[in-house]
Amino acid sequence: GGARTGRGRRASFSRTTAGHLARLARAGVRGARPENWYAITALSDGGPAFAEDEPITISPSQVEAFTTCGLRWLLASAVGAQEGGPNEYSTMGKVVHAVAEMAGADDGVDEVHVAQRLDEIWKDLEFRSSWYSEKQREQAARMVDKFLAWHRDNPNEVVALEESFKVDLGRVVIKGRIDRAERDDQGRAVIIDIKTSSTAVPKDELARHPQLGVYQYAVMLGAFERHGLIEPGGAKLIQVGKAAFTAKAREQEQPPPAEDADPEWPKRLVEIVATGMAGDVFQARANDKCRTCPVRSCCPVHDEGGQVGD
Ligand code: SF4
Repeated sequence: GGARTGRGRRASFSRTTAGHLARLARAGVRGARPENWYAITALSDGGPAFAEDEPITISPSQVEAFTTCGLRWLLASAVGAQEGGPNEYSTMGKVVHAVAEMAGADDGVDEVHVAQRLDEIWKDLEFRSSWYSEKQREQAARMVDKFLAWHRDNPNEVVALEESFKVDLGRVVIKGRIDRAERDDQGRAVIIDIKTSSTAVPKDELARHPQLGVYQYAVMLGAFERHGLIEPGGAKLIQVGKAAFTAKAREQEQPPPAEDADPEWPKRLVEIVATGMAGDVFQARANDKCRTCPVRSCCPVHDEGGQVGD
């Protein structure tokens, strides 16, 4: 219908342009044709990514992505430009998460059982070479060991594992999935996110870590009420990859919003991000993850992107 025409045109403009850029980026093209730079400039301050009546669905990781760089978020959400590095990396994440879920579900789980499960999962995977597979297998086993040691010492009660949630705020809908929810000794919810990445979150950024903040906000909004969890008691990243300590998992904890100087910060964050996503300016913001950005070669804030010869 007529009402959808503008949105359709906008969507196809975004998709074509962003798709083109993402393909170039994937092909590792460092220099690109000037029309692409024009295109990305146009895209940076083009029309809104959401039509006026369209619900704005955001996930905790998207809030984080948008906060980090609006342009990368836009391109990733328009064309699904590869996030998180090559496939083996995300496969590793999936393996560790699968084992972690099993460990959480079964209190009496023993290490032999977990090792067997890891072997089973491994057999289902395809790797480039057996050498590579062997290396990755060792790395996954180390991560799993760290996770299990952390799990054994963790005093909280595990309440939910790999659970999806949805909170409807009217136009804004928060949708996400948690690795696990726990109940602490005060009956509060502690949301756990397992990370297999190689970089830890800088200490001074933890208190306002967007993804953890949105989890805690979701708790406040009743996302886990069915488990009797209504008050956030903090959220934690459990680092088991290279960002962990050598011998054990590293816990990175965000305190409950009630303990923050501004207890309303997660609410405000969601509002700012939702408004930004629905807006018409998408800012490319240099950040420490630019290195791994799939659209870096097309990015106007980087030299290889900004300098376009005539
Ligand atoms: S290279 Fe950096 S600034 Fe440019 S789009 Fe990617 S994340 Fe944003």
